[in-house]
Amino acid sequence: MTSNFLNVIKKKVGAYFNPSRIDHDLISPFAIEIIETFINNKFDAFIVGGAIRDILIGQKPKDFDIATNATPEQVCSIFKKSRIIGRRFQIVHVIRHFEIIEVSTFRSPPQNKIKMKNGVFKDNEFGSIKEDAARRDFTCNALYYDPVRKKLIDFYGGIKDIQKKQLNLIGDPKIRFDEDPIRILRAIRFSAKLGMPLNRSLTDHINQSLSLLDKVPYSRLFDEIMKLFLTGHGVKSMTLFKKFLLAHKYFPALLNTDSYEFINQGLVNTDYRILNNKSINPGFLLAVFLWPDVKLVWNKKAKNIHPSTALNEAIDNILIKQSRIFPIQKRFAITMSEIWRLQPRFENLSAKRVYRLSKHPRFRAAYDFLLLRNLNDKALKNTASWWINFVEADQNKKN
Ligand code: ATP
Ligand code: MG
Repeated sequence: MTSNFLNVIKKKVGAYFNPSRIDHDLISPFAIEIIETFINNKFDAFIVGGAIRDILIGQKPKDFDIATNATPEQVCSIFKKSRIIGRRFQIVHVIRHFEIIEVSTFRSPPQNKIKMKNGVFKDNEFGSIKEDAARRDFTCNALYYDPVRKKLIDFYGGIKDIQKKQLNLIGDPKIRFDEDPIRILRAIRFSAKLGMPLNRSLTDHINQSLSLLDKVPYSRLFDEIMKLFLTGHGVKSMTLFKKFLLAHKYFPALLNTDSYEFINQGLVNTDYRILNNKSINPGFLLAVFLWPDVKLVWNKKAKNIHPSTALNEAIDNILIKQSRIFPIQKRFAITMSEIWRLQPRFENLSAKRVYRLSKHPRFRAAYDFLLLRNLNDKALKNTASWWINFVEADQNKKN
């Protein structure tokens, strides 16, 4: 009886049901409670997007998104601790303690005719679950799971694609990239994160659509580029970033072949920290990306002027040069400058200087940066060893 019912549904919506592989231990209990509450209030609600994809490949999701047929106002009336956010399309944040779950109402695909100033198509009509699936980016991101009724809906063969490690856009890539060019960077990110190679057709479409990225608002572009490198798969992302000439476009400093090992090690360390739940500072990695250029200009200038003045000038030069290509947000530029400016201070080992440097708020980041430089610069060996001993002794004192 039940399987007959499922077959009818499968035929009707093209959906695929196979809930057995969803590990409930990987689902946030809060997300399950929210879905229970929706169902008790006679609404449908599903965990959707990256969380289900990540669970299916055995990774712990970093956050949970819920999609429902309740309107944002209805969501807010059901959940006391919630607030509507977003202007273009309203979503609701449902909050408990420190956990925020993003709840969005099923949307219909964007109306192609209405393109807004920032190049993105207007996209703010409510729709059915099937329409909602059609507007998502990749097949593996269009999976809907109701953990209460244990119902998994897959309109576009996302499960098969995950099994076969294939990254497929929903619909015509040309139209989907034109609708929202940020999907180009998302394709690269998911390929790196999920180990799903980009097939020939997707690769060609990405190459043909790269110039569309010029229309994406800067802050969205910056955030997405940072996600490429700061979500645990930076090394793999960098290969693709260079392959699609994005390094040429946004960070030409990365193309210097002499700095390959230094930058690669910076990414290896960042990936390691993220996978081990350690904190990361975007400014640190950006400081790594631009350091080879800073060092080059610094060395040149230091032939004629005092080294610390030369370093300050080199930093200003490089940040100005970068700002013409792809500016770095001020708060990160400040961190980067501090890390760079502290580097020569590690060379001065007088007791007073050492004490002052070790109390600097950026000391730890600057010290980690020194150790990274040390891997590629024999001249730093003694300085680095001295500081390693100092930091270890200091640590032992604290323990
Ligand atoms: P992760 O959280 O690991 O970055 P994710 O797939 O959950 O991956 P989010 O940015 O959290 O990515 O978006 C949640 C879901 O919203 C996606 O899985 C996708 O279905 C949809 N989505 C997000 N951005 C877009 C976009 N630009 N175009 C179409 N669908 C999108
Ligand atoms: Mg997500």
